[in-house]
Amino acid sequence: MNRPITGELQALDRAHHLHPFTDFKALGEEGSRIVTHAEGVYIHDSEGNRILDGMAGLWCVNLGYGREELVEAATAQLRELPYYNNFFKTTHPPAVRLAEKLCQLAPEHVNRVFFTGSGSEANDTVLRMVRRYWALKGRPDKHIVIARENAYHGSTVAGMSLGGMAPMHGQGGPCVPGIEHVRQPYWFGEGRDQSPEAFGRACAQAIEDKILTLGEDNVAAFIAEPVQGAGGAIIPPESYWPAVKAVLAKYDILLVIDEVICGFGRLGEWFGSQHYGLEPDLMPIAKGLSSGYLPIGGVLVGDRVATTLIDDGGEFFHGFTYSGHPACAAVALKNLELMEAENIVERVRDDLGPYLASRWSELAEHPIVGEARSLGLVGALELVADQASGARFDKSLGAGSLCRDLCFANGLVMRSVGDTMIISPPLVITREQIDELVRLARQALDETARRLK
Ligand code: PLP
Repeated sequence: MNRPITGELQALDRAHHLHPFTDFKALGEEGSRIVTHAEGVYIHDSEGNRILDGMAGLWCVNLGYGREELVEAATAQLRELPYYNNFFKTTHPPAVRLAEKLCQLAPEHVNRVFFTGSGSEANDTVLRMVRRYWALKGRPDKHIVIARENAYHGSTVAGMSLGGMAPMHGQGGPCVPGIEHVRQPYWFGEGRDQSPEAFGRACAQAIEDKILTLGEDNVAAFIAEPVQGAGGAIIPPESYWPAVKAVLAKYDILLVIDEVICGFGRLGEWFGSQHYGLEPDLMPIAKGLSSGYLPIGGVLVGDRVATTLIDDGGEFFHGFTYSGHPACAAVALKNLELMEAENIVERVRDDLGPYLASRWSELAEHPIVGEARSLGLVGALELVADQASGARFDKSLGAGSLCRDLCFANGLVMRSVGDTMIISPPLVITREQIDELVRLARQALDETARRLK
């Protein structure tokens, strides 16, 4: 690709294309970066740059780019049966086989899956299932879902309502009623006046306080990501999940673990909930399920909820045209088979995760880094103006955006959430490529520090 093509596409993009999560006007002035092709852990743009994709697209290209096996799985299925639905007592082989494979990989108490087209649709499905479950149990008042501030559960109306992103709630409201938010277990951002362990317990206590305020007879479920992704790769203190588990058990409240990012190996287990020893009743999934090659999501449904929905529920009036789409299901199945054959999950847990942790933690010594944390293949850097006190840069400086832009210019995709820099590379990254990622991140930190002086 050459420059005139870049200009032409940028002009067309500006004229006709409204991008997700984008200031339309600002992008129009700046022009988009046009990604043209990719292989392994690298993307290429129309200007001829090769860039290490430290975000696996949007936390999804777990097997990396250019996997012929996935292309073949899609092509073969499109030839055989490009579309049929799963409504009205019909199905097709890829949906059935994928359901079987998912339930084989999931924890023992999970034996059913409901397919969707995306993670957002999965969370819409969760809300309906949770409320339906309690209604069937003769407790329709138990309808409130407790979620967390700064959580991300998608962009549909239910997804954004379950999410705790204030800027999203501020647009296009009101949100879906019956959703309440509690504080997030973000120690660096909100808890440094306490030890991480005390802070983790305090955040679990906030859930119990909320349940008592609302009345336990009114609370249906608690939803959370094992590690918050879009909120800033927030790894909770070790004390958090055991304490949350105890609170939910005490008041008979369903646990929904959003596995859209943490599922399929990101934390070094098939599901993030397994890393924390959780037994969720419902697990929304998407992204890494197909390594992002085709859109597919779903909800893994534990026996407790499934049994009630099946035995007592009659028809569940819910579903999507593309629930379990054959080509998407065929690609997802092949993706999971490849992950198993290549021991991807074990490699993240035993080799790549610990290696990233050792290299990433070196960045904590950089003068503008207040904390460097990682778990499995997700990591974050907290940018600070003063390392000793942890004081942040003045917001007007836009330190995070500056660092992100410098990374991009330098050949690395690293995302910024405010002044938190985050990575979530493909799970097929090698040790040498982790070295490259850390080197490029350090260069961007150096340059950011120079510019902010
Ligand atoms: N849940 C989590 C934890 C996510 O990170 C996302 C997307 O980033 C979603 C749900 C929504 O998924 P989708 O964009 O496929 O609708």
